[in-house]
Amino acid sequence: MTAEIICVGTELLLGDIVNTNARFLSRELAELGISVLHQHVVGDNAGRLRALVTAARARSELLVFSGGLGPTADDLTRETVAEAFGVPLAFDEVQWQHIVDFFARTGRAPTPNNRKQAFVPAPGGPSCALPNAHGTAPGVWLEDAAGHCAALMPGVPREMEAMWREQVRPRLEQRQSCTIRSRTLRVLGGESSIASKAAPLFESANPTAAIYCKVGESEIRVTARAETAAAAEAMCDAYLEKFRAVLGDDAYDVDVPGLAWTVVRVLKEKGLHAATAESCTGGLAAQLLTEAPGASDVFGYGFVTYAEAAKRQLLSVQDDILKRYTVYSGPVAVAMARGAAQLSGAELAVGITGIAGPGGALPGKPVGTVYVAGFDARSGEAWLYRLALGGYGERPIIRTRAALYALDLLRRMALGLPAPDARHLAPEAPFAEMDI
Ligand code: ATP
Ligand code: MG
Repeated sequence: MTAEIICVGTELLLGDIVNTNARFLSRELAELGISVLHQHVVGDNAGRLRALVTAARARSELLVFSGGLGPTADDLTRETVAEAFGVPLAFDEVQWQHIVDFFARTGRAPTPNNRKQAFVPAPGGPSCALPNAHGTAPGVWLEDAAGHCAALMPGVPREMEAMWREQVRPRLEQRQSCTIRSRTLRVLGGESSIASKAAPLFESANPTAAIYCKVGESEIRVTARAETAAAAEAMCDAYLEKFRAVLGDDAYDVDVPGLAWTVVRVLKEKGLHAATAESCTGGLAAQLLTEAPGASDVFGYGFVTYAEAAKRQLLSVQDDILKRYTVYSGPVAVAMARGAAQLSGAELAVGITGIAGPGGALPGKPVGTVYVAGFDARSGEAWLYRLALGGYGERPIIRTRAALYALDLLRRMALGLPAPDARHLAPEAPFAEMDI
């Protein structure tokens, strides 16, 4: 099957918003084995939209739309595309009631404009409304006599993605007479290190595997096609095991939004608590941790100690180690983690201090030198990274990567996993040993 993606909205053409819907839809269609011939962006203009639909229909069997389903005069997608497909629209009481109920839940009443959104294909034919679980505008599924079809979805990404997953994608799977399932493995580290370990695994046709880079980590999305959902899922799981076998502990979880979710889950499972003491990350590690629901069960104290005085007064970092080793040093990172553990009573704590740049470099310590320490109050042991993050990018990237290292150290300490690139410090290790 061939497809074209058409995103409607003048704000896209003006560059006011990024076209993330096109990226999402392209990825999804590729997974379904549907060839995307073109991606288009068109403004809120009936004439240009009509011309585009006419040309695209002549080339492609499936047209996927996002945007322009709203109640205002410039929302034209529904009327224009239905007309091009020769499908008449009629006012639908059920859709209207859904819109009225949706407004009622937020204590509002729909405006007369909203009635426009209840015009959908009359029942009986293959064309129909696609209910919107997260907003007012229903989507529309259109089919013409030649078997060409169109899916019209709202522009708001959350609404579009839900409608796609729940209603459009299953229809397309049925047409392709197969079921497709994906799982996403999250891995610490960049594309090149993963590719060097797992290159042959990216060459398979079914399941397929694709890598997407994020800051400090990557996602590997494995997609399998099979006759049943259970078979496709089993294929994904077996393939993920192959990745895990070569990537080891760096592959930290499957189908989670981020490392914090894993850390919170692991701490909860182990009955442990964490505290953070941060300097150059300014609270980012604490922010990331608290993005995961349930963080309050495992995380109670995050200290932002930006000034040397704050490190001394709050975390009891001794003046003489600040003087002897400088504030950007292993001994200070460990002392911060120890101080945070002591104050909070948490079993595990991390300390982060370093030079996020662009200024502040010291002799032998360029921008991006960051010390991340983990302290385990149960044993008195500590782990210490000296990171050189300057080569990866600027201040925001240095901070994000440092915070990820800290979260990962919490995961490793909680699970008893090694931290191969960190220095391991025995209880009561002398500060000189931390001066790395
Ligand atoms: P509404 O009922 O909210 O008007 P709609 O279907 O008419 O929904 P639009 O008005 O086109 O959708 O877009 C609503 C919002 O959704 C936009 O302001 C924008 O924030 C977001 N959005 C629209 N299209 C895209 C896109 N292609 N990629 C990412 N975000 C988008
Ligand atoms: Mg709109």
